[in-house]
Amino acid sequence: MALIVQKYGGTSVANPERIKEVARRVARWQAQGHQVVVVVSAMSGETNRLLGLAKQISASPDPRELDVIAATGEQVTIGLLCIALHEMGRKARSYTGAQVRVLTDSAFTKARILAIDERNIRADLDSGNVVVVAGFQGVDEGGNITTLGRGGSDTTGVALAAALKADECQIYTDVDGVYTTDPRIVPEARRLNHVTFEEMLEMASLGSKVLQIRSVEFAGKYKVRLRVLSSFEEEGKEGPGTLITFEDDIKMEQPIISGIAFNRDEAKLTVLGVPDRPGIAYQILGPIAEANIDVDMIVQNVGHDGTTDFSFTVPRGEFQRALTILNDQIKPHIGAREAVGDNRICKVSVVGVGMRSHVGIASRMFRTLAEEGINIQMISTSEIKISVVLDEKYLELAVRVLHKAFELDEIRA
Ligand code: ADP
Ligand code: ASP
Ligand code: MG
Repeated sequence: MALIVQKYGGTSVANPERIKEVARRVARWQAQGHQVVVVVSAMSGETNRLLGLAKQISASPDPRELDVIAATGEQVTIGLLCIALHEMGRKARSYTGAQVRVLTDSAFTKARILAIDERNIRADLDSGNVVVVAGFQGVDEGGNITTLGRGGSDTTGVALAAALKADECQIYTDVDGVYTTDPRIVPEARRLNHVTFEEMLEMASLGSKVLQIRSVEFAGKYKVRLRVLSSFEEEGKEGPGTLITFEDDIKMEQPIISGIAFNRDEAKLTVLGVPDRPGIAYQILGPIAEANIDVDMIVQNVGHDGTTDFSFTVPRGEFQRALTILNDQIKPHIGAREAVGDNRICKVSVVGVGMRSHVGIASRMFRTLAEEGINIQMISTSEIKISVVLDEKYLELAVRVLHKAFELDEIRA
């Protein structure tokens, strides 16, 4: 007998039919003798709809109240799934995040899980229940409802699996695993049988939304066995999905590059004619950080005639705010010539642990883009990834040609 945590995303519980389908799958695992904890998202589109209601009333709603609203989406699906399980003769009990006591900090709309009280869940499992938990939500010390950031149900699933020391955490979604890139963009993308935690962390942080980045961090930290699977495959014909593994677990030869990630949600800002003297990076990025704007890539050019240019990227939603800070506060303060911005960029990244032991990956990437006439605006690298910033109109072309150049369509799962 194993203890399994299964998380079903929005499309997997999109309507009553799909919820009944999930109930059948859960019941089958339980009938095989396993204890099952299920984490569900809100029905697909529901979280957007709920947040949209608030935006119709206020341009800047109080984040505490946004969480009160957004958390209701998941509360509906836990009840519906339990009712579907009851109809099949199964014992099932639902829990909101607060009822479990998924304790979080108080950072509304992006709270972090601090602790999980798993006692009630264990007792329910031991008395033969399927336990159904609302994803994406928790409660802070003061009893306020919190949410964990978009896509946060993945993190609830993995955190519960860690707290319960589950044998496996299964993330059921609308694709049958982690692919070499988003299969919606490149139909030739291949499913990976396994991917390392490190690679999955990079892919998630570089834009592959198949897993929320925090869920991968949790799984790595608490050594949770994590698998991505499809909830849309016919019963009994399910594939193995993708297992997230530790590098040492993989005995066979790894491909050099495992995947290509991309992100449209960025904007670039450049300060031109910055006096080239110590402290300038701090004077530019300090006020940006104080305004709580995340900075991603940073590039400072070689100085020339005592001045230099300084570029960085921010989430696209923060573009206007960052540009205003540059123009109003930073430019006059440091005596720069001009501040400019571009919010029609994208970031494309190739990721693979094999980069550590192979040279020539960057040059193959740059040559491939050059052959298509795609201009690279910024570059950043780490041990296992190379990212480039491009004009957003090239996103799909770049991902497709890189996928081919690194022979990812030939990977055998
Ligand atoms: P859920 O609602 O189940 O949480 P998401 O929409 O959050 O599902 O994540 C699944 C989607 O992630 C897929 O439909 C796919 O378009 C996208 N995706 C992006 N990159 C990848 C990738 N490398 N492998 C698989 N899916 C990916
Ligand atoms: N319902 C939330 C969202 O849409 C959480 C999730 O689906 O994981 O972001
Ligand atoms: Mg998701």
